Amino acid sequence: MSENKKFIPVAEPALVGNESKYVLDCVESTWISSNGKYLERFESEFAEFCGVKHAMACSNGTVALHLALRALDMGPGDEVIVPALTFVATANAVVYCGATPVFADVDPKTWNIDPAHVESLIGKHTKAIIPVHLFGLPADMERIAELASQHGIAVIEDAAEAHGARYRGKRAGSLGTLGTFSFYGNKILTTGEGGMVTTNDDTLAAQVRLLKGQGMDPDRRYWFPQLGYNYRMTNVAAAIGVAQLERAQWHVERRREIASRYRSLLSTDSRISFQLVPDECEHAYWMTSIVLENSNAGQRDQVMAALANENIETRPFFYPLHTLPMYWAVQESALPVSERLGEAGISLPSSATLTDGDQERVTESLLTALDTN
Ligand SMILES: *Cc1c(COP(=O)(O)O)cnc(C)c1O
Repeated sequence: MSENKKFIPVAEPALVGNESKYVLDCVESTWISSNGKYLERFESEFAEFCGVKHAMACSNGTVALHLALRALDMGPGDEVIVPALTFVATANAVVYCGATPVFADVDPKTWNIDPAHVESLIGKHTKAIIPVHLFGLPADMERIAELASQHGIAVIEDAAEAHGARYRGKRAGSLGTLGTFSFYGNKILTTGEGGMVTTNDDTLAAQVRLLKGQGMDPDRRYWFPQLGYNYRMTNVAAAIGVAQLERAQWHVERRREIASRYRSLLSTDSRISFQLVPDECEHAYWMTSIVLENSNAGQRDQVMAALANENIETRPFFYPLHTLPMYWAVQESALPVSERLGEAGISLPSSATLTDGDQERVTESLLTALDTN
């Protein structure tokens, strides 16, 4: 029976603008590699979108983090504070530099990195903090910026999930020393695979550009003064990005509408809680996510299975990174909030293409699953 029901994915790209037209233009003009007009447009228009001076396109959000960290000269002996409740790439990029991630717990209401815990973790080896705007909600950037300036350390915003989010009116990507974005297929804006580093700092911008292009001296071709990488984006990917950006307002609006509808359909249910959105934040809602409360927390996997049975895809929250075997050595003690949320959280279908009917099916199936499991 359930096979007849339309499959509702947790996330799918919405390619509803000029994406095909611009990609075809790349192919017909033969500009398919890592130079071309779409790359130039994508970088300058994304910088404008974020309200920053510089935006450097790269091959994905993970290497965007690696580039940002390397531009800050992160290396062995350095510590970087990251939230435990995030995608694994946030910490892995630190390890790629030979530096050590230090895991901070998250706030029980906003689910974002807890500045009080960050403060207790800052030591003489701390060189940066990477706040993550989880699911699209800006982290507490004011307190993080205060801590960073008190201790003379850098802030890299991991804005992979937060295109278009705002904090005190300023866009994500403009709030730290550097910002990083992902344009993976399930993100708010996509290029298939892709990433971006943003900054207002001319020197860091030049360093990111150098590193992503094999470290080649911009004034002397084939002269490599330092170890770099091939982390470039193609013009084809940028062509998709330009088309996505043309409709950025629509993409962001759609996700906000979907989130507010989920909230109005579900928020009176005491078994479910949503991410608290502080007044100074505009959530970009990459995913509308819920946490099952109290005795319902243990039902998470059954609820997800019941939804899957109805052809509705959902996602569990990230496993807190300190619980992954490769990070046991760096973090032995518990981070209780991340652990509780990691076990009880579900991300609901949140694509811009989701219809009202789809959303009703999701909420009805969710409530039925909670009643019967
Ligand atoms: C998606 C994501 C990344 C990595 O981006 P990729 O483009 O998949 O490499 C990094 N951090 C967070 C928080 C993400 O959600």
